[in-house]
Amino acid sequence: MFKGILIEKDEAGYRAAIKSIDEADLPDGEVTVRVSHSTLNYKDGLAITGKGPVVRRFPMVPGIDLVGTVESSVHPEFAVGDPVLLNGWGVGEGHWGGLAQKARLKGDWLVPLPKQFSPQQAMAIGTAGYTAMLCILALERHGITPAHGEILVSGAAGGVGSVATAVLAKLGYTVVAVSGRSEEHDYIKRLGASEVLQRSEFSAPGKPLAKERWAGAVDVVGSHTLANICAGTRYRGVVTACGLAGGMDFPATVAPFILRGVTLAGIDSVMCPRADRLEAWRRLGTDLDIAKLDMISSEISLEEAIRAATKLINGEIRGRIIVDVNR
Ligand code: NDP
Repeated sequence: MFKGILIEKDEAGYRAAIKSIDEADLPDGEVTVRVSHSTLNYKDGLAITGKGPVVRRFPMVPGIDLVGTVESSVHPEFAVGDPVLLNGWGVGEGHWGGLAQKARLKGDWLVPLPKQFSPQQAMAIGTAGYTAMLCILALERHGITPAHGEILVSGAAGGVGSVATAVLAKLGYTVVAVSGRSEEHDYIKRLGASEVLQRSEFSAPGKPLAKERWAGAVDVVGSHTLANICAGTRYRGVVTACGLAGGMDFPATVAPFILRGVTLAGIDSVMCPRADRLEAWRRLGTDLDIAKLDMISSEISLEEAIRAATKLINGEIRGRIIVDVNR
């Protein structure tokens, strides 16, 4: 038996609770992992609270990220004792995930734990941090360098936003952050932002085109915020869109794209090919300041994760949360 969060949905309703789970109930997979840590991402918050249709099968162990050691393996790339990491691939949505002491997974989903990071640090980064890096790689791929000008980061006090701000600043970009929490402005500046703007400047409907300011952007909010960011992006600038914290809609016009040659780059971490994941983790190893990672993250127990999920969805969590599944 092992301990984990189990989400159930039946006549009694939708609920998440800590349960003792039989190992025989683990799903099929080539590699069984003894999980040491997981994390809470926005998607885990939606799954645990039931506030969004994330879970596709019940009962479900949530947790889209995990780190641990291989306990048994029939996959040629992984042997007993190997430290491994998993992000996404529908784990915690359609396949039992990381918020438990054990997981059984497809070997192709796993990546070796990068040597630069402890298990806790890898989870402090998690899907949020790896997605932030995917956004920055997309900006680079489209030719945006620090010399091009300011990069806007929305939801800057959250997981993706915190890591994006820290990495962009270390790479020499001028980061202008957007946050709805004035009490976190100092924190965001310590991560490396040169200026922090109020969320309200972006969240209301705006004009099709605004004054050209941003060379690039990392947006986690969507809706009017994404539309306003595109409207204020400079000629041939690049906006990376990865989130919907403000809404799934995109009430924009084509003006920024056809008149200013703005590129809107969609970012998906879940099904992202393995080569791109390995590159993102390699770059996190060189371009993320570990000292800032300590500032970004805090650690909680498996029990505490259920309550923290509600706070996360309410936008009350700063940075990243590591979950020690064994305490
Ligand atoms: P967090 O909850 O850690 O951060 C989200 C931040 O967005 C909040 O901290 C807050 O920042 C801001 N925010 C929250 N609600 C609103 C709102 N109504 N309007 C405007 N801003 C808001 O989540 P993550 O950083 O983990 O994820 C951010 C988004 O990215 C989520 O939508 C998530 O689903 C998505 N995502 C997508 C991935 C992909 O593969 N495409 C992978 C990972 C995440 P502040 O207080 O500073 O304003």
